[in-house]
Amino acid sequence: MTNDFAADVLICGAGAAGLTLAIDLARRGVSFRLIEKLDDPFRGSRGKGIQPRTQEVFEDLGILDRIVAVGGVYPKQREYADDGSFTDADVVEAEPATPAEPYHLPLMVPQFLTERVLRERLTELGHAPEFGYELLGFTQDDGAVTARIATKAGEETVRVGWLVGADGGRSFVRRVLDIGFPGKTLGVRAIVADVMLSGLSRDVWHRFGEGDMRRQISACPLAGTDLFQLQGPIPLEGEVDLSATGLTALLRERTGRDDLLVHSVSWASAFHMNARLADRYRVGRVFLVGDAAHTHPPTGGQGLNTSVQDSYNLGWKLGAVLHGAPGALLDTYETERRPVAQAMLGLATGLLDAMKRGEMRRGRDVHQLDIGYSESSLAVEAPERHGILLAGDRAPDARVRGAAGQSRRLFDLFRGSHWTLLTYGDASMGTRPGLRVHAIDQHGDLADDAGEFRAAYGVAAGDRVLVRPDGYVGAIVSVDDDAVLDAYFLQVGIVGRVDG
Ligand SMILES: Cc1cc2nc3c(=O)[nH]c(=O)nc-3n(C[C@H](O)[C@H](O)[C@H](O)COP(=O)(O)OP(=O)(O)OC[C@H]3O[C@@H](n4cnc5c(N)ncnc54)[C@H](O)[C@@H]3O)c2cc1C
Repeated sequence: MTNDFAADVLICGAGAAGLTLAIDLARRGVSFRLIEKLDDPFRGSRGKGIQPRTQEVFEDLGILDRIVAVGGVYPKQREYADDGSFTDADVVEAEPATPAEPYHLPLMVPQFLTERVLRERLTELGHAPEFGYELLGFTQDDGAVTARIATKAGEETVRVGWLVGADGGRSFVRRVLDIGFPGKTLGVRAIVADVMLSGLSRDVWHRFGEGDMRRQISACPLAGTDLFQLQGPIPLEGEVDLSATGLTALLRERTGRDDLLVHSVSWASAFHMNARLADRYRVGRVFLVGDAAHTHPPTGGQGLNTSVQDSYNLGWKLGAVLHGAPGALLDTYETERRPVAQAMLGLATGLLDAMKRGEMRRGRDVHQLDIGYSESSLAVEAPERHGILLAGDRAPDARVRGAAGQSRRLFDLFRGSHWTLLTYGDASMGTRPGLRVHAIDQHGDLADDAGEFRAAYGVAAGDRVLVRPDGYVGAIVSVDDDAVLDAYFLQVGIVGRVDG
């Protein structure tokens, strides 16, 4: 795109949301700057749960194996009774993986390691966050955003096409836009601290205090590190000592064990739990992603995951519009993602209430595999479907066989920045720039030998399934409804049909 911009997109904040968006824009060839006011990367473990749907996103971004390698899975939870006896239980109710859902187990990866892997991926793509750069202010008109940035060398002013506020729960961008952030404080204040600790084994997540909010405390061995993450509610008011001495005293008081010793603290925070949702996710050329748009209690491990998936939804749409798609495509970011955050806030606060009653269980609803956009204007069916898979649903994985004989996964075919059209039975289609067409048919490039594709997608001969760049089903149409597909292509900027 030719313009006088310093970059097409300015991303404010290099946390999980900003880094994910940067990777997605980088692989689409979109010019951007990613600024971060901190001088160094964030050091805390706080968002340590990587849910199955985010694992799929990370697979697409090319980092899943690295994420697994630096982290691990959740150990069992050990609940101590006041008499010192204990019972062990699984943290998550996990079912075995299936061909359609290859990841069912939440991973435990300290947030600073997740962000490190994201930065490494960004480096591979030729980009890096600009640390020590703080957004000071911005204005926008019809054609651009003008932003003021503080740097070590002084202040600079840049003109960009779009600004994305990925600047966390206290979002400066949200405040400048004067977007309401209604919700509630949940009447819970807690500490979270990454510590070196002796006296506890590293094979289980230790939980003390019998679920009583006044005296519970937990110590979770952080996968990929020698650290434990301490977490526990604290009184709503008053000073809290987050030094090694202070945390040792708190731990001993709540466990009744004087063999426990905190040696050092690498990061610690005391925070009030809130559940809040931004009234709008977009004003003109400025968007909010991640915690800037929604904050929530940590119960259920949803925040970082929702933040990553906000960016994953916005990235391809920004890329498409910058490459000529109709601007209205960007409106679907808020209409698709805000309801997801609303539901997630209900889930996380419900789990907090359950935790207060001492009975929290994390089931399938925290995995985020059932999130979809069936109400979106980007979900199209012709004719209307009543089957197992609807337009807007997450596109399942399946194992198929390539015509050359090798086994392939649909997720291998989806990986990258393109759209994918799967035709089933004898429905051949011409291709277009940005679209990959696969014919699943005895004479096609793929064969559904084991019937996994048909079982997961519920298709009939002649059906075409259009899969979005973010792995959701955009359209399912029958062989007689090519015109519907043509209209859809125009809506999302897939133009220039090339018949094979
Ligand atoms: C105790 C605790 C446990 C949690 N556990 C989980 C969990 O298990 N799973 C989960 O999914 N989530 C969890 N979360 C939530 C998770 O940490 C957040 O949802 C996640 O960090 C949001 O990412 P983000 O990129 O939107 O924001 P942030 O990580 O807050 O990043 C925003 C960045 O923007 C920068 N910034 C701010 N203003 C400016 C400016 N003006 N200019 C430039 N840069 C700026 C900040 O310095 C920061 O680096 C937990 C949170 C807490 C507190």
